[in-house]
Amino acid sequence: MKKLIAILTALVLMMSAAGGLGENAAETEIPAAAAGRDLPEAGEVIQGFEVTEKRDFEMIGAELVLFEHQKTGAKVMYIANGDINRAFQLSFLTRPLDDTGLPHVFEHATLYGSEKYPSKTLLFNATLQTYNTFINAFTQDAMTSYPLGSLSEEQLLRLADWYTDACFHPNIMTDESIFRTQAWHYEMKDAESPLTMEGTVYTEMVGAMTLERAAMDAANRTTFPGAAIAYDAGGVPGVIPQMTWESLKAFHDRYYPPVKLHCVPLRRPGAL
Ligand SMILES: [Zn+2]
Repeated sequence: MKKLIAILTALVLMMSAAGGLGENAAETEIPAAAAGRDLPEAGEVIQGFEVTEKRDFEMIGAELVLFEHQKTGAKVMYIANGDINRAFQLSFLTRPLDDTGLPHVFEHATLYGSEKYPSKTLLFNATLQTYNTFINAFTQDAMTSYPLGSLSEEQLLRLADWYTDACFHPNIMTDESIFRTQAWHYEMKDAESPLTMEGTVYTEMVGAMTLERAAMDAANRTTFPGAAIAYDAGGVPGVIPQMTWESLKAFHDRYYPPVKLHCVPLRRPGAL
């Protein structure tokens, strides 16, 4: 059965309200919405992004502006309030097509260099040597997210540039050794040692596959056969070795490029 799969690229940028910190504690409270900010109205186009909606989000004293990139369909949610922490997040709709853990490998692969930032240790440098308040990546059932936080807008934007390039142009696409290290590989310490299976995602999932998680996977598999939720986005240890570098690159081509895929019918492997 043909299935429409849409790519969702959501960027969330939280910015401080205009003006510096208050001179006393009372003034450091998050003000209701972002009073005084010059936010665009629905229909306006900024740098190729059209405003599709603007509304209040009272729970966090914020105003939301939703944009859609005219060329690619990428969606951007801009949250404006008085929080002095700035945050940026990239999210990709990465519905799993099997239990090999492809979405999970990409979460790790972004940490091992990109076209513009080829250093394999950049994540550790970024984490320890920049003025950040949060750096992480998450694989969820239907999406993979890459959030960042900083009290410095300048540093946030630099980190955002690094993370964006890491997502769109990760070195794992051209360097098979990163796939072997991050996904799975065979290993023998010496000629007398037993053959073992290693790899960051493989060993992580061996540890993470508790009885409870296996039971939940089995319940989802039984209840929703063939649906994305029927698969474990993190990967099932016994199935992870079926993942190839080619399938990983195809997964990136399908879910990560910022192009309009809304109308491209895609098939599950083996589906008619
Ligand atoms: Zn992991």
